[in-house]
Amino acid sequence: MKVIEHIDKATSPLFSFEIVPPPRGKNISAVTDIVKKLLPFNPSWVDVTAHSAGAYYNEKSDGSVERKIYKKRPGTVGICGVIQNRFKIDTVTHLLTQGFTKEETEDALIELNYLGIHNVLALRGDALNYNKKYDLSRKRNFYAKDLVEQISDVNKGVYLDDISNSFPLDFCVGVAGYPEKHFEAPNLATDIHYLKQKVDAGADYIVTQMFFDNSKYFEFVDKCREAGITVPIVPGIKVIKRMNQFSNVPRHFYVDFPDEFVAEAHENPDHIIEIGINWARKQTEELLNANVPSVHFYVMNDCDNVSKVLKGLY
Ligand code: FAD
Repeated sequence: MKVIEHIDKATSPLFSFEIVPPPRGKNISAVTDIVKKLLPFNPSWVDVTAHSAGAYYNEKSDGSVERKIYKKRPGTVGICGVIQNRFKIDTVTHLLTQGFTKEETEDALIELNYLGIHNVLALRGDALNYNKKYDLSRKRNFYAKDLVEQISDVNKGVYLDDISNSFPLDFCVGVAGYPEKHFEAPNLATDIHYLKQKVDAGADYIVTQMFFDNSKYFEFVDKCREAGITVPIVPGIKVIKRMNQFSNVPRHFYVDFPDEFVAEAHENPDHIIEIGINWARKQTEELLNANVPSVHFYVMNDCDNVSKVLKGLY
C-alpha cells in the first residue's frame, strides 16, 4: 500500500521507521533483526536510506595514501525488497539525485516496480565531496524537485527515451522538509518556497528533518499551509542516547536543542539514555495529541531506545 493510503485510511496513530543498509560486506541480518524488533509496534512503513559513493583515503604501510571511491552502504533497493516480501511491511526507498544519472534512476524505478515497491522518498543528497564523472550525453537531476518531476513523468508513462505503448508506473512520492530550514537556504520562507515546488511537481507528502522542540514543527506546518502546501507533513523524531550528540547533531543536521533538554542532560549525564527516551516520548505524545498524520522515527541502525519510547506509550 502507498504511504498516502496508509495516512488516508488510518483509524489509529501511525508509526514509521527509518533504517540504514548495513555497511558494505556485512550481513543483511543487521537490518532484518531491527525489523523483527519493530514488529510489535506495527510499522506502517519502513524507509531505507540511500547512499551515493564517496571518496575515502587509506594510509598504506609505506606511507602513501590510497584514494578509493565506493558506496559505504549499498543495497537500498534490495533491502526494501527483502523487508517488503519477507515481513509484508511497505517500504519507502530513498532515491538521490546526487551520484546518479537520470537513466540510472529510471532503471531503479523499473526495478522497484518489479519488486512491488510503490513508495519512494525523493532527495538531493549531500555527497558534495565526490563528483562522479558523467558522460555528457547522460542527463542528471540536480534538485530533489527535478527527481520528483522524473518520477511524475514515469507515473504518466513518459520515459526518457520515447517508448511507444509505454507502461505507466505508480509511485507515491515523499520529499524532505526542514522545520529549522535547510542549511543552504537563506531563510525559512525561501526554503518553503522551494518545498512547494517539490509538491507542485507531484510530491504526495513531506517528512521532516528531526527536531527536538515541537513548537518548531507546529510553526513550520502553519507556514507551509499559509504558502499553499496542503499535503500531509509527517514529523521526524530522533532519540538522543549520548552526550556528544548535543554537539554532533547540530553540526550534521543544523537543528537546535531546547535549553530545558540540554540543562537536564548536563545535570545528569550518567542518565542520558533515560533522559533521551523521556524527551522523545514527551514529544511523541504531544504530536499524537495534535493528530499528526504519523510519527516517523529515525532508527538508523539501533532500535532499542525507539522501542522503549514506544513501549511507554502503550
Ligand atoms: P532539495 O529539496 O533539492 O533542496 C536542497 C537545497 O536547495 C535547499 O536549501 C533548498 O531550499 C534549495 N533549493 C531547492 N530548489 C532550488 C532552486 N530551484 N534554486 C535554488 N535553491 C533551491 N540524504 C542521503 O544522502 N540519503 C538519505 O537516504 C537521506 N534521507 C533523508 C530523509 C529525510 C526525511 C531528510 C529530511 C533528509 C534526508 N537526507 C538523506 C538528507 C538530504 O539529502 C539533505 O538534507 C540534502 O542536503 C537536501 O536534500 P533535499 O532533498 O531536501 O534537497
